[in-house]
Amino acid sequence: MSKLPNLTAAESIPDAALAEVTRILQTGDLFRYGSDQSPVTLLEAEFAQALGSRFALAVSSCSAALFLSLKALGLPRDAKVLLPAFTFAAVPSAVVHADCVPVLCECGSNYRIDLDDFAQKLPDCDAVIISHMRGHTSDMDAIMTMANAANVPVIEDAAHSLGTTWAGRNIGTIGKIGCFSFQSYKMLNSGEGGILITNDEDLIAQAVIMSGAYEHNWKKHPVLGKVFTKWQNRLPLYNMRLNTLSAALIRPQLDALTQRVKRGRRNHDHVARILDGCPWIDVPTALPAESRAPDSIQFNLDNMTDTQVDCFVDQAASLGLKTEVFGRSADNARAFWNWKFLKNNQELPKTRAMLSRACDVRLPTRLTLKECEAVAGTILNALTVTMTARVA
Ligand SMILES: *Cc1c(COP(=O)(O)O)cnc(C)c1O
Repeated sequence: MSKLPNLTAAESIPDAALAEVTRILQTGDLFRYGSDQSPVTLLEAEFAQALGSRFALAVSSCSAALFLSLKALGLPRDAKVLLPAFTFAAVPSAVVHADCVPVLCECGSNYRIDLDDFAQKLPDCDAVIISHMRGHTSDMDAIMTMANAANVPVIEDAAHSLGTTWAGRNIGTIGKIGCFSFQSYKMLNSGEGGILITNDEDLIAQAVIMSGAYEHNWKKHPVLGKVFTKWQNRLPLYNMRLNTLSAALIRPQLDALTQRVKRGRRNHDHVARILDGCPWIDVPTALPAESRAPDSIQFNLDNMTDTQVDCFVDQAASLGLKTEVFGRSADNARAFWNWKFLKNNQELPKTRAMLSRACDVRLPTRLTLKECEAVAGTILNALTVTMTARVA
């Protein structure tokens, strides 16, 4: 078996970015509104076009994008926002930041939103955030039908799902607003950064101003003069702008996206095929309408006790492979019971059961098939050792 690859390293920055970064550093022009055609403005145009959306606004993080989306929707204080209980802590945090109240929806063993629980909680909520966790897409047809009927706006948290499609449509373009992350472990890496997309003029104008387009800086966005003048001086400036260096790092990676998506899917499916058939592993399949862009794999450890699950993680670590069972690793930010900042304590038995068995392994898109085989082989080895050791 070949050597285990480095799974924790981020994607390196394409050489094409270096000349642009040098140019920017020499001019000192790091502020997005320093010139009319800054790399941030260009990135917004290119990203909107690539996704097939009318408008894009680049900001400092996906969390900032989610916060600005909630603000642009004009939700009043204490408005209820329905979101999956399986998500990253930054998502309920953005809701709290926007003075709203997170309501958690159950997720099933396939990591997707439990539609019965969604239907039950929706009527009481003023907005919905759908986190496509690790690219696992919930049934967007059912969700949009229910949300539209209830007249509740949907924000897509596609932070870690760039490149995934649902029935041929890009994830992030199905709800009213889509939010993405450029943090180092997402599909495009600028260290930190985010972007939101929408077709709605009123939402983008408000988000642009609130992101920090003070005075007449909104004129450096695709001109929607009337809508912008309507909001002039009427909104707070939260200053969540992206700086030009980050945009310069992202732009050449946008060209590589198709290739990364293809390799990510190939790698994921190759590992899934090897793991499938192991009596202790269940790899949930994608929904029929979903075409994923994974840079990691998740699977459930079946027919194992808590002790055996913990043993497996330790065993894999001793073989050099970092795995994590979301609900069994201390202080995991994706385990809802660790969100102690939430005032309304919520219990979600289905999601808790799933998190206690769902195992997460990074599979960077740069891996070769041989390296993927080394990862899969190590998982199977660690399981065999664990389960033949007869730990109770
Ligand atoms: C990473 C991530 C976020 C937060 O993105 P930042 O850019 O770090 O704020 C939100 N939601 C999900 C599902 C994520 O994976």
